[in-house]
Formats: sequence, C-alpha cells, structure tokens
Amino acid sequence: MALIVQKYGGTSVGTVERIEAVADRVARFRKEGHDVVVVVSAMSGETNRLIGLAHAITDNPTPREMDVLVSTGEQVTIALLAMALHKRGMGARSYTGGQVKILTDSAHTKARIQHIDDRNMRADLEQGNVVIVAGFQGVDEQGNITTLGRGGSDTTAVALAAALKADECQIYTDVDGVYTTDPRVVDSARRLEKITFEEMLEMASLGSKVLQIRSVEFAGKYNVPLRVLSSFEEGPGTLITLEDDETMEQPLVSGIAFNRDEAKLTLAGVPDVPGVASRILKPVSDANIEVDMIVQNVGKDNHTDFTFTVHRNDFKRTLEILEKTREELGAREVIGDDKIAKVSIVGVGMRSHAGVASKMFEKLSEEGINIQMISTSEIKVSVVIAEKYLELAVRALHSAFEMDKEPSERSY
Ligand code: ASP
Ligand code: MG
Repeated sequence: MALIVQKYGGTSVGTVERIEAVADRVARFRKEGHDVVVVVSAMSGETNRLIGLAHAITDNPTPREMDVLVSTGEQVTIALLAMALHKRGMGARSYTGGQVKILTDSAHTKARIQHIDDRNMRADLEQGNVVIVAGFQGVDEQGNITTLGRGGSDTTAVALAAALKADECQIYTDVDGVYTTDPRVVDSARRLEKITFEEMLEMASLGSKVLQIRSVEFAGKYNVPLRVLSSFEEGPGTLITLEDDETMEQPLVSGIAFNRDEAKLTLAGVPDVPGVASRILKPVSDANIEVDMIVQNVGKDNHTDFTFTVHRNDFKRTLEILEKTREELGAREVIGDDKIAKVSIVGVGMRSHAGVASKMFEKLSEEGINIQMISTSEIKVSVVIAEKYLELAVRALHSAFEMDKEPSERSY
C-alpha cells in the first residue's frame, strides 16, 4: 500500500464526463488499498476565460484581484470531483489551497510555496478519505489568496508529494509521457522511458509544456519520483528520476525543446563602463521580471550593445523600464523584437562529448536559418532565431540527431 499523489490537468477534467473518468481511476487506486491525494487544475480553457474577463474590464488588473479571480477555476473542479467520488461510495474531501494551508510568499500570480501544513490531509487519509486539493493556489501570511504561476498545479502536486513523503507523484495529462520533442511539430517524436530531473528541468524551462518548471525543481530537490502519464490511455508514461550511470542510457541528445514565449530587447549604444550590466538588469529584476539569455557585444568607441530576453508577457513592461534606463545612462536607443523563438537541444550525454553545438549550428545554417543569440550549459545548447523558422529548425535538428531512433540505434 502506497501513498500516491495524482495530478490531473485541465484537459483531464475538461468536461463532466472526464471528471467522472478521473473519479473511476482514483476509485480504482483507492480500492487497491493506496492512499490517494488528488490535485486538479481548472477545466481546460477556464483560467484563460477568467483572465479574459479581467482584461475585458481593465488592462491593468491588480495581481491580488487576479489571484482571487483565477483561483476560482480549481475550486470548481475539486468540488465536482469530490461529488463524483461520493457517487461511487468513496469518502472524499476537497480543499482549497488556503484550507490545506499551503503557505506562500505574497508575490501574487507567481507566488512560491514556503510551507505546507499536512495535518488536515493526514487526518482525512487516516479516515480513509481521498483528499482532493485545488492546484495552483495557496495563501500568504495575511490570508490573501495567491497563485503559483501558469501551470502551477504541477508544483502543488509535487510539493504535496514532498510534504507527505509520497511514494510517487503521478502527473496525468493529455499526452502519454515526455517526448523527444513536441509531436505536433515532429511526427516521428518518441516517448522517453526515463529522463533525469536535470534534463527535464531544461526541457521544461525551455518551453516543453508538459510540466511546470518549478515542479521539476521541487521534485529534484526533494527527490520525488515523478511520472508523467496519459489520463486517456494506459501506459507506463515517462519516469523522471535521478541520473543513474549504470542503468540509464545516456543519449547525447535526449530532447529538443523550444519556446515561442520570449521577446528580445536591446539597449544600443550604452557607454561601456563598469557596472552597466547591473544598472540595466537591476530595475528589471526589481520589477520581478525574469531575464533569460544575456549577450553583451564587444565594445566599440567606448560604447556597446546589451541584449537580453524576457517572457513575452513581460515585453511591454520591460520596454518601459529600459526606456527609463536609456535616459539615465545616455544610451542611444531601445530595440525590441517579440517575433523570436528559442530552440534548444538537451542531453546529459553532452557532458562528455564535444561537437554537439557545432553540429547544431551547421544544420541550422544548411537550412538558411540565422542564429541571433547562443547560450550553452553543460547539458544544453540554445539558440534564438526568428519565430518563423521555428518549426523548420526543430524538424531539421530532430532528424540530424536521429531522435526518431532508439538511442542505441543512432549512428553517432
Ligand atoms: N489552471 C492553471 C493554469 O491554467 C493552473 C494549472 O492548470 O496548472 O495555468
Ligand atoms: Mg499543465
């Protein structure tokens, strides 16, 4: 008998029929004798619909009220799932994040979990109940409702699994695992049996939408075995786990991730003096905007260009901040481009192999794709290109690295 945390995403609870199907699955696990904690997202499309309502009223809703609004989506699904379990004769109780006491900081719309009180959940489990928790939400010290950022239900699930020391955290979604790349872009993309936390972290941070990045960080930090599976078909899914030299294949490239959610900003003609990078980036980070890639050009005539990328949602705000910085530093101009995309190849096997990056650059040049920015880490190479070339680039790289084949059958 195990303690399992199961998370069902928006499409898995997208209709009443699907909620009933989730109830069937949960009931099955329960009958096998497992303790089950279920985390659910809002019905698919609901969070976007709520955000749309807010923007129909104002361009600038306060983050606090946004959290009050968008957290309602999950409150609907926890109650419906509890009812569906009751109908099946199962004890079940639903909890909002605040009712569990998922304590977060007060960074509305992107709050971080600080502590989870497991007492209510434990008491329910001991009484044989299924515990159903609203994903994506928490409460701060002052009792304000907070949310964890888009896709935050994954993080709720992993955090609960860590707090309860669950045996496995299962993420049920509309795909049957983690793929070498998005199968909607590349037909021959393959499901991975296993992937390391580290690789998954890169894949998620680079826009592979299967899991929210923070959930993977959490799982890696607390070593929570994480499994991504389909809620519509049976199968082993993909296990995300620690790197294991003996049993794990270590393919050179495990996956290709891409991201259309970024925007590029350049402050051109900045005086090339010490402290400039921090003067440009500090106001950006003070505004809670995450910067991704950074490039500073070689200076010429005591001036330089400074380029970085942010999430596209933060593009306008960053432009405004940068315009102020331009005046303060006496820089020439601010240039913004939100029609870019980032493509990355990821694999722990890269650590011990040279030449992966150059092969990537060569393939892109064969396709006539210009590389605008490059960044690398031990297990990843990323490039920024024009958005219109994104799909072409991903397909070309997938076939160049033979990712449609089993790692053992690849020719490199
Ligand atoms: N409902 C939230 C969203 O759409 C949280 C989640 O689904 O994980 O982002
Ligand atoms: Mg999701």
